[in-house]
Amino acid sequence: MYAAKFRFYAELNDFLPQEKRQRTFTHVFELSASVKDMIEALGVPHTEIDLILANGQSVDFSYLVHDGDHISVYPVFESLDITPLVRLRPQPLRETRFVLDVHLGRLATYLRMLGFDTLYRNDYTDAELAHISSSESRILLTRDRGLLKRSIVTHGYCLRTTNPRQQLDEVLRRFDLFTSIKPFQRCLRCNGLLQPVDKAAIIDRLQPQTRRHYHEFRRCQTCDHIYWKGSHYERMQRFIERILQGNSTG
Ligand SMILES: [Zn+2]
Repeated sequence: MYAAKFRFYAELNDFLPQEKRQRTFTHVFELSASVKDMIEALGVPHTEIDLILANGQSVDFSYLVHDGDHISVYPVFESLDITPLVRLRPQPLRETRFVLDVHLGRLATYLRMLGFDTLYRNDYTDAELAHISSSESRILLTRDRGLLKRSIVTHGYCLRTTNPRQQLDEVLRRFDLFTSIKPFQRCLRCNGLLQPVDKAAIIDRLQPQTRRHYHEFRRCQTCDHIYWKGSHYERMQRFIERILQGNSTG
């Protein structure tokens, strides 16, 4: 028998039985499993989850839970920032583009959400990352100091934090990007650019509920994924508002 400690935050507690809400509890298991499987066995759908920390480190859904682990699970776009909105300044001329280390998938999604050109794959080698950064003039983001020591990398930044939301703040501040945010321009999956598309052209690909309630759609020019202003869109909007609010204190 193995045991790990779990703690779920904010509205994720809605999915838990009363005795497991708003507290750290011990989960006993016989077979090692991915954190995704374990969380879902506890009753929380993985689609509700934004961030998982295992012993303080950000992990993805495939992380195998070990005996003695401390797992913290956060909902989509949770933030406690309540400072007032800041007025945007004029746009800078330069375009800042990124390539991200393989461990920074969540940060890549955040950056794409804000409209920044962000290359990310979970199978880039260090040599590929360094080459892309150099040949495409992309800022290499990583927590690996060794990677940034490679001589061909001229533009890079070593993230201090492991929490993706804090990493996003680090990047926005470090490169002064708060005024360059252009939400909902890029595909979160592949970094492709989104273009408006007529509902009629894609109607056969929509679920009945979506077909009924939504009328504006965008399609990724690269991977063909379709986006609309549903509940995810509203969560993203709130997330972006909080980011801008956070900047008003600095
Ligand atoms: Zn795409």
